Amino acid sequence: MAGLSCADVLAASGWSVTLFDKGRRPGGRMASRQLETDHGPASFDFGAQYFTVRDPGFAAEVSRWAEAGFAVRWPEARADAWVGVPAMNTVLHHLAAQHAVHFSHHVSGLAREGGRWRLLGEGMPTMHFDAAVLALPAEQAAPILTLHDFELARAALYARSQPCWTGMFAFEAPVPFADHTVRDHGIIAWAARNSAKPGRSGPESWVVQATPQWSSAHLELTPDAIAPHLLGALGTATGTPLPAPIAHSVHRWRYALSAGTGLGCLWNEAQQIGACGDWLLGPRVECAWVSGRRLADRMIGAAREAA
Ligand SMILES: Cc1cc2nc3c(=O)[nH]c(=O)nc-3n(C[C@H](O)[C@H](O)[C@H](O)COP(=O)(O)OP(=O)(O)OC[C@H]3O[C@@H](n4cnc5c(N)ncnc54)[C@H](O)[C@@H]3O)c2cc1C
Repeated sequence: MAGLSCADVLAASGWSVTLFDKGRRPGGRMASRQLETDHGPASFDFGAQYFTVRDPGFAAEVSRWAEAGFAVRWPEARADAWVGVPAMNTVLHHLAAQHAVHFSHHVSGLAREGGRWRLLGEGMPTMHFDAAVLALPAEQAAPILTLHDFELARAALYARSQPCWTGMFAFEAPVPFADHTVRDHGIIAWAARNSAKPGRSGPESWVVQATPQWSSAHLELTPDAIAPHLLGALGTATGTPLPAPIAHSVHRWRYALSAGTGLGCLWNEAQQIGACGDWLLGPRVECAWVSGRRLADRMIGAAREAA
């Protein structure tokens, strides 16, 4: 979200922007996926569950998404909650379609060559760029920044994220529970009936997210070892015997929820390198969007001053 938000503003200002993402498709921590079942594909948003809209600029952007039909309110979660439709990552698909994005490209580092930036990594095209932006979680940005700007790297090194073990479970019958969400119950920080979100179809599906404390304590267990804990916790929280799962998957987010440094964005004008992302503001989708915006505005302002 932060990278695409930054790219939107730069491109609208006439900059030529190229994005590289190690993921296979748009999403990042607004990821969605499907699991095949005998009852058809079950869909899951397994990162961000919904997003809030408090910043006026973000509100205007989300209105455009709503008009285009790929974001809607989800009042069952909370009064000001929004989701992408038919999946959370639909929003990113639409944003990414406006730009040149190279997926499945893991950036392992940056090289400064003749005053320009070259991205390092397996299969990376040999291209040189006037400026480089890292729109990554702090822990992933820090090692890349360290070699080039220690001040930026230090900010990233101080921003620690919390992990989140996330379970995705599809059932052949509805879980007989009156609500669509569970909050703060035992090891569960949040669980939601994904199939009840607006615009979803397919079999009954639930996403179960463990608390940061439990996730940290069990971080190095295997997904197979985690799944029964999350399923058991869902049964306990809903107070009902669960129908047998027809498909499941478990995902470990090592850097799920950022601490939020409040810096907004980082930019080194001399080196033409910067960083944006939720960790520079707070652990929310809209913070990532705002951070990307702020960095682009700063880059454009600095370029105008230098001209
Ligand atoms: C389990 C979970 C639940 C959440 N719930 C909510 C919620 O309910 N509401 C809310 O507002 N927010 C929630 N969040 C937080 C929200 O998802 C994030 O704040 C937001 O998506 C961060 O966006 P970003 O662009 O800063 O980072 P990311 O989405 O992490 O994007 C970073 C991108 O960089 C790519 N990348 C990383 N390293 C490299 C590399 N070396 N080379 C190339 N590409 C790389 C990744 O593939 C990714 O696409 C949740 C997050 C998680 C994980």
